[in-house]
Amino acid sequence: MRPPNLRTSLLAVLRNVTILGSGSGGNSVYIETGETRLLIDAGLSARQIGLRLAQIGRTFDSISAILLTHEHGDHTNALSVLAKRQSIPVYCNRLTQEAVADQLGFAFPHRQFATGATFEIGDVAVESFAVPHDAQDPTGFMIRTAASTIGLVTDLGHVTRLVIERLRRANILILESNHDVQMLQDDVRRPWHLKQRILSRHGHLSNEAAAAAAVQLASEELKHLVLYHLSQDCNQPGLARQAVGEQLAKIGASHIQVETAAQDSPMAIYNLPEIPTPQPAV
Ligand SMILES: [Zn+2]
Ligand SMILES: [Zn+2]
Repeated sequence: MRPPNLRTSLLAVLRNVTILGSGSGGNSVYIETGETRLLIDAGLSARQIGLRLAQIGRTFDSISAILLTHEHGDHTNALSVLAKRQSIPVYCNRLTQEAVADQLGFAFPHRQFATGATFEIGDVAVESFAVPHDAQDPTGFMIRTAASTIGLVTDLGHVTRLVIERLRRANILILESNHDVQMLQDDVRRPWHLKQRILSRHGHLSNEAAAAAAVQLASEELKHLVLYHLSQDCNQPGLARQAVGEQLAKIGASHIQVETAAQDSPMAIYNLPEIPTPQPAV
């Protein structure tokens, strides 16, 4: 359902969704409408985020806000630089704000929301909801623009009924698909306690769990499914796409385009061409 107070002008149309990078080395998503430019998480270095924004013709100067899912470094890495140099407001809940301020060692410009609240930034409405993960108060987001909705849920040990309810009817869904369980179990570099943490109900989603969630969220409206936060060592893009694609094929959801986000290069999910400025008639 569209919030009634969103302007339905052409400007409010979703213009760009780009995964700037995703994986345990850092996560960040750029979303742009006519009036609003958001980063969800800023877990790459500030330099990398700047370089990748430049690749799509954008700079930090035009960013309206940074939304934080939680305080882990792979979601907040750039804040140590950005919070000092830029005056971009950071939207997060109180416990996340306190945890990040502790990490940084200084207070940073922020706007607090209560988890579960809906708030507006320019012409978008942001719905927040709790997810189960070993952080202070981790959240997922549903971003509503006048014409499209984008759901993002990452870093969660299991998919709750609330997560499914809040992400229903997203047009673009960015969903964690962290590891292949067998690859994780076979991995010799990770100590046993870390594997237990990843596999726990407050850890990270496996490909199989992501596939089960995708089946539950496979509405007519869902066009793009981006598998997000893939483990470098314990997953492969092809394995993740196969695990999810097979389950979607079983329910005949062939209209959903399944893609995997990469750590090292940005990926545009959605990019409307610039509206040409009308030239005066001569
Ligand atoms: Zn993470
Ligand atoms: Zn995390």
